Amino acid sequence: MPAKSSPAKTRRAKTRPVKAKQPRRLYSVRNSAIHGRGVFAAAAIAKGTRIVEYRGERVDWDDAVQRPDSDPDNPFHTFFFSLDDGRVIDANVGGNAARWINHSCAPNCESDETDDGLVYILALRNIAKGEELAYDYRLKIDDKLTKKEFAAFTCRCGAPECRGTMLAGKKHKRRAKKARAKVAKKDAKQARMADRQSREAERLAQHHAHAARTAPR
Ligand SMILES: [Zn+2]
Repeated sequence: MPAKSSPAKTRRAKTRPVKAKQPRRLYSVRNSAIHGRGVFAAAAIAKGTRIVEYRGERVDWDDAVQRPDSDPDNPFHTFFFSLDDGRVIDANVGGNAARWINHSCAPNCESDETDDGLVYILALRNIAKGEELAYDYRLKIDDKLTKKEFAAFTCRCGAPECRGTMLAGKKHKRRAKKARAKVAKKDAKQARMADRQSREAERLAQHHAHAARTAPR
């Protein structure tokens, strides 16, 4: 007798076992109207669903800021996710699709850190197939930002309640509001100038027409 008894052989089933269906991916990555690449619901997603883990290497913040930028054209674009313990997840290293999920001021997802320090992106509400997934980045920056640096965090989510910046906090919101008002004023001025120019051109054209009609032969 063998020391370990082997399990009794089961009788052959009459029906062939059906191969377990691959769990369907809930998301796909493609180009986004908000910014660069985005992540979209590949199926209807119920409120509260854990859609994807935000993966990457866990490093100290001091270490993270020494690392090269993810995108040389957009040096402020960040793949860093701050953890409660002061470290960050650097999705440049070992990151997954979660790093492509865009920010929105009226998001359909939220980020959630578990007690084990894992970060998941959850559905804030029921999401229809094809919708772009987004969550509020709530970026926190202690340093004072120059105008250019601040502009790099401009939000283009297009939501009516858009606060104009991906940065969190009232101070940044106020600054974004001021910046937008300034841009709107500039745009209005340019529109007025363009209008004046076109009226001027029209008047000139009329003069020409008039002149053509009255010029002696
Ligand atoms: Zn926004």
